[in-house]
Amino acid sequence: MSDPTGFPAGSPLATLRRISTRPRPAANEVPEERCDMCAEPVPEEHGHVVDLNSRRLMCSCRGCYLLFTADNAELRFRAVPDRYLHFPGFVFTTADWDSLQIPVGLAFCFRNSVQKEMVVFYPSPAGATESDLPMAAWETMLASNPDLAQVRDDVEALLVHRNDDGEFSCHIVPIDACYALVGTMRNTWRGFDGGQEARAALADFFDDVDRRSRPAKPVGDAQ
Ligand SMILES: [Zn+2]
Ligand SMILES: [Zn+2]
Repeated sequence: MSDPTGFPAGSPLATLRRISTRPRPAANEVPEERCDMCAEPVPEEHGHVVDLNSRRLMCSCRGCYLLFTADNAELRFRAVPDRYLHFPGFVFTTADWDSLQIPVGLAFCFRNSVQKEMVVFYPSPAGATESDLPMAAWETMLASNPDLAQVRDDVEALLVHRNDDGEFSCHIVPIDACYALVGTMRNTWRGFDGGQEARAALADFFDDVDRRSRPAKPVGDAQ
């Protein structure tokens, strides 16, 4: 059965769309958002857990979230960390960018530990456009920037951004933040270039990433 929001049922985007299209409760109403694992009510700001089998992003209460924070546990579920890191010395060329074949100014890359492959996706009016990241492109990125290796499988993404001056930046961001941006872009995109609302949403997103980020330490140091 397909989700009424238009995304395949159970996809992370379906979950987020369900959330973003749900009417906001009035101030005097109890919010109805609940933990997808134990059905306890959760506050508007809450953590998420990735189901590695279905790729579904699940809303979770603090208790359920904490069950799945271990990094290397052989578990089906994994908590999405809330850290944001930036890489001030990021080395990336226009040729590297071109090899990703991304038509917009930003791309998210993450490693799917079940499929054992790198995935790249970017927001578009249709939602997330996703493809396999060629291994050669990933290896080139990693050879020039070995510190990127600290991105965690399945739950974090590398956000590569090209600004209007053609300069590149790279951040590690939580995967739920990436999907939230995709949902926002899908809802706000108008016309050929996205329009004012989508551009404002994107600017807000990058402001938020900058505000939350701290510099990444070299691989091997504790974060
Ligand atoms: Zn719970
Ligand atoms: Zn949620």
